[in-house]
Amino acid sequence: MYRRPLLESVCICAALLLSAPANAAWYKGNTHTHSLNSDGNVAPDEVVRWYRGHGYQFVVMTEHEYITDVAPLQALFGAQEQFLVMQGQELTQAVRDPKHPDGERQAHVNAINIGKVILPMVDGTKSARSTRVYTVSEKISIAETYARNLGLIREAGGVGQVNHPNFRWSVRVEDMLNLPDNTLFELWNGQLEINNLGGTDDSGQKALSTEALWDTLLSRGKRLWGVAVDDSHGFKHLEEPNGAPPGQAWVMVRADRLAPEAITASLVKGDFYASTGVTLDDLTVSEKEVSIKIKTEIRPGVVSIARFVTRFIGRDGKVLAEVSGSQPRYTIRGDEGYVGAAIMDSNGLRAWTQPVYLPRSR
Ligand SMILES: [Zn+2]
Ligand SMILES: [Zn+2]
Repeated sequence: MYRRPLLESVCICAALLLSAPANAAWYKGNTHTHSLNSDGNVAPDEVVRWYRGHGYQFVVMTEHEYITDVAPLQALFGAQEQFLVMQGQELTQAVRDPKHPDGERQAHVNAINIGKVILPMVDGTKSARSTRVYTVSEKISIAETYARNLGLIREAGGVGQVNHPNFRWSVRVEDMLNLPDNTLFELWNGQLEINNLGGTDDSGQKALSTEALWDTLLSRGKRLWGVAVDDSHGFKHLEEPNGAPPGQAWVMVRADRLAPEAITASLVKGDFYASTGVTLDDLTVSEKEVSIKIKTEIRPGVVSIARFVTRFIGRDGKVLAEVSGSQPRYTIRGDEGYVGAAIMDSNGLRAWTQPVYLPRSR
């Protein structure tokens, strides 16, 4: 049975000191999931059953241009403080680009906690890749689609998420310089062919890793929160190499209760961390210090012998300190621009805390 861990920590987000509510708890969730209601390979109830059965406390159903009605799923699988199904959508936006090998770039965004479908922008242009993709001509920029789509998501009371910027090598720094503050940014997407790590092609064309993209945007004064997600499509045949299986990457959200409004509010203010397998027992952030306790107990009474290294990162992706061990700390000087922590264990599992924006950084 899931027990709520009580928290005593405080965090600063967007340069403000915020006290975690006395009864706040961490909730594990995935903000990017598909089912048969779009291009996933099982029915929504199987999706929800998978997440509920694998230690998650919430999942957001984000079909392409479709809102899965979560009320029946919540009635069946939801339980107070134990499991929550949230409504959402993926807006499958593309922009034509004759210079791109696909003839278009993908600018998908997720809408978390909205009630009605928001159709992406269209102007009569056909997608070169798929009839499922909503495409506009090159007269409209990716930045304009983000402004319009993320604006509508916010108006609908949801939180927007920039999905997989390196999918089909689509999105560049200049496309994201006008993203609204407090937008979520997919720092890690668990699907294959997403190119999280960036790279250089045979002709020398370079693309930044999603982590470096994030650091570049933060260094330019953007305030974006890094999420790790599954983008799960494949719940059957989990052995298939390209099956987009669940359980790859997630967020741990600190909220005062397990409800759509509370989870959404914590996502908007950045009170969460992203993970592909490293769990934190505690995360305390003040204007003076970032202090982390990494969970080493993998099962009751069983302590992992994995080793951890934490990099504290500042402006321009500069490594401010590299600290070994399970209780890394960093004392903030004040001139770092922002301070975030990227943790990796000796098996390659990772976690990322949200940046602390320092008052003098903008
Ligand atoms: Zn997508
Ligand atoms: Zn997706």
